[in-house]
Amino acid sequence: NDTRFQVYVSAVSGSDYVLLSFQDITQLTKASQMRRDFVANVSHELRTPLTALMGFIETLRGPARDDAPARDRFLGIMTGEAERMNRLVGDLLSLSRVESEERLRPTQKVDLRYVVQSTLRNLNPLAVEAEVSLVPRMADNDLPMIGDSDQLLQVFTNLIENAIKYGGKGKTVEIDVETTLRDPSLRGPAVRVTVIDHGPGIDPLHIPRLTERFYRADSHRSRALGGTGLGLAIVKHILSRHRGRLKIDSELGKGSRFTVILPLDPAQD
Ligand code: ADP
Repeated sequence: NDTRFQVYVSAVSGSDYVLLSFQDITQLTKASQMRRDFVANVSHELRTPLTALMGFIETLRGPARDDAPARDRFLGIMTGEAERMNRLVGDLLSLSRVESEERLRPTQKVDLRYVVQSTLRNLNPLAVEAEVSLVPRMADNDLPMIGDSDQLLQVFTNLIENAIKYGGKGKTVEIDVETTLRDPSLRGPAVRVTVIDHGPGIDPLHIPRLTERFYRADSHRSRALGGTGLGLAIVKHILSRHRGRLKIDSELGKGSRFTVILPLDPAQD
């Protein structure tokens, strides 16, 4: 199996005995392998747009120098590649920030209903562009809880943005907010936010790994839609800080349902 031990051998002076100590370094080995994989992934993800940019710069300096229509087209592609790099660097910084704050308990008083409404307002232009209607279903009253409002906004932004992106043109995305629910995994009251899309769905094979950094169920589609592969990893870390959890259900051809369960007071859990 994958278990790794480091063995130390030392002679015990003045005796016929030898001391053998075993240290379980499985986690240590796994952690350093993950770090190496992460650096390799980041380098690859950055190099792809960079190589394209360098290629286009060469072309613009040489063969396309006096070809105005080609120059405009290439500049458009270059802008897209630069934006991809910018999104990737932004998501890497977010990931690093949420990881470093994961052990700090959130203490702000937050109205979750306001956070969800702000997210919907921010994403409205994207939804309009994708011809997707966002359908919120929530009670009229405030929904106070303890949390980090910027981070919670980021969670709902990532989930709803994915539902718009992958859900497909002309479809609806429903956002259900249910309050003071008792969840078996939590001690205190909780809130449940569900983001439902009617897109192509996700093969069950991929579901357990979707929150890993750079893991994509459909790499080609993710890249074509401008995805960085980091959105759900960021969601996972933020929810862990809030003692919440993410559940993913999906049926191929029917759509997906991303459910967030959050305790109203993470300190109780
Ligand atoms: P990305 O930037 O690629 O969207 P995420 O971490 O947000 O990265 O999501 C990881 C992968 O999960 C995506 O590449 C996609 O394959 C899959 N995925 C996420 N949300 C959905 C969804 N609503 N419908 C279908 N697939 C999804």
